[in-house]
Amino acid sequence: MAGNITFTMIKPEAYQNGHAGKILDMILSKGFRLSAIKILNLTSKQAGKFYEVHRERPFYGELVGFMSSGTILAAILEKENAVEEYRKLIGSTNPANADEGTIRKAFGQSIQMNAVHGSDSDENAAIEASFFFSELERC
Ligand code: ATP
Ligand code: MG
Repeated sequence: MAGNITFTMIKPEAYQNGHAGKILDMILSKGFRLSAIKILNLTSKQAGKFYEVHRERPFYGELVGFMSSGTILAAILEKENAVEEYRKLIGSTNPANADEGTIRKAFGQSIQMNAVHGSDSDENAAIEASFFFSELERC
C-alpha cells in the first residue's frame, strides 16, 4: 500500500527570493497536511549526507554547495499516496520541462535551482523525514 508521508525542502534560491509562502499555499491547497516544518541552514557536510546517493554524479559537488548556500525550509507532508501526489505537484527535475501548474514551472530557475525537493519513494520519505525531524517535532 502507498505511504501517506513525503518530505520536501524549499531550496535556498526559492526561499531567498521570497517564494516560500506561495509554495506552501500551492501545497496546502492541493490537500497536503503539514506534519512538521522548520527553517534551517544546512552545513556542507549535512547536505553531502542528504544527497549521498548522488555522490558519483558530476553535479554532486555543486549541488552540495548550493544546498548549503542559504536558508531552506524543510517539511513533512501528509496525504494519501503522498510521494507520487507530491512528485506530480512539483513537476520535472528541469523546470524547462515541467508542466504548467507545477511548483518547478512556477518557481524553478534551472535544473539545479529547481525550487523544491520531493522524496522519490516511501522508503526515502521515511529516511529523509527522520534525518530532519525528531519524533517530538512531528504532529
Ligand atoms: P529532488 O531529489 O531534489 O527532488 P529530483 O528527484 O527531481 O530532485 P534528482 O535526480 O534526485 O532529481 O537530483 C537531485 C537534485 O540534483 C535535483 O533536484 C537538482 O537540484 C540537482 N540536479 C539533478 N540533475 C542535475 C544536473 N544535470 N545538473 C545540475 N544539477 C542537477
Ligand atoms: Mg531525487
